[in-house]
Amino acid sequence: MIRVSGIHKRFGTNEVLRGIDLEVRKGAVTALIGPSGSGKSTLLRCLNLLEVPDRGQLELDGPPIRFEPGRRLDSRQVLAIRRSTGMVFQNFQLFPHRTALGNVMEGLVVVLGWTPETARARASELLGKVGLAEKADSYPAMLSGGQQQRVAIARALAASPKLLLCDEPTSALDPELAAEVVEVLGALAGEGTTMLIATHDLRLADRMAHHVAFLQDGVVVEEGSPDRLFRQAADPRTIRFVRTLA
Ligand code: ATP
Ligand code: MG
Repeated sequence: MIRVSGIHKRFGTNEVLRGIDLEVRKGAVTALIGPSGSGKSTLLRCLNLLEVPDRGQLELDGPPIRFEPGRRLDSRQVLAIRRSTGMVFQNFQLFPHRTALGNVMEGLVVVLGWTPETARARASELLGKVGLAEKADSYPAMLSGGQQQRVAIARALAASPKLLLCDEPTSALDPELAAEVVEVLGALAGEGTTMLIATHDLRLADRMAHHVAFLQDGVVVEEGSPDRLFRQAADPRTIRFVRTLA
């Protein structure tokens, strides 16, 4: 079970997340939609503890971790959460001085202490899976944006995370290159990879997600199947949002 309960996060006086409750079904794709500044990226970053929530609780298929002001975090739990998640960023964020293979291997060797041989085998397998076996020795600068993002997806999957977090995975790409990335994400979804994808691309959310959550002003306003959210929304804020951007 992947469950987010009552997550709050503020930056200074700006309360960005105001009590997020969300369940992410295992083996399914959940899309996070909402206006710019609604807190989508902050929520994803809270889920892998790139940001530490001020309060609330996270449960990632393990013992829940609670956040409260002044409460010290259990470092083993923090590590467990980080290892349970993989993150794909809008701008790829590959290591420029590592090859595609090196990018995928890096965390396995440096963080998880795998031997280079084992890590190389795993990285090759994953590059094959994202259709980039022949680009293993290429550096990011030699790859198209779509190829870079596919390397980033392979890297995020390297340690077999329980949850793949994708923050606007296609929005830095031309439609043609975005399509390559969507194809890879679709194949992963078909294999039952649990994904939470923040996206402005409502068509992508409609097509790929099993569940959609609409975020505004730091709360989940409405959630449900794509049909429900995009065609039978109940909340006027959702109706307005899906109408403007559809
Ligand atoms: P977009 O659709 O534009 O990507 P978003 O829904 O991902 O928007 P966030 O990036 O989560 O929104 O930002 C929500 C709010 O939090 C914004 O007001 C933003 O300025 C603020 N914010 C995000 N990160 C930080 C930070 N590290 N320090 C201060 N403020 C931040
Ligand atoms: Mg964002």
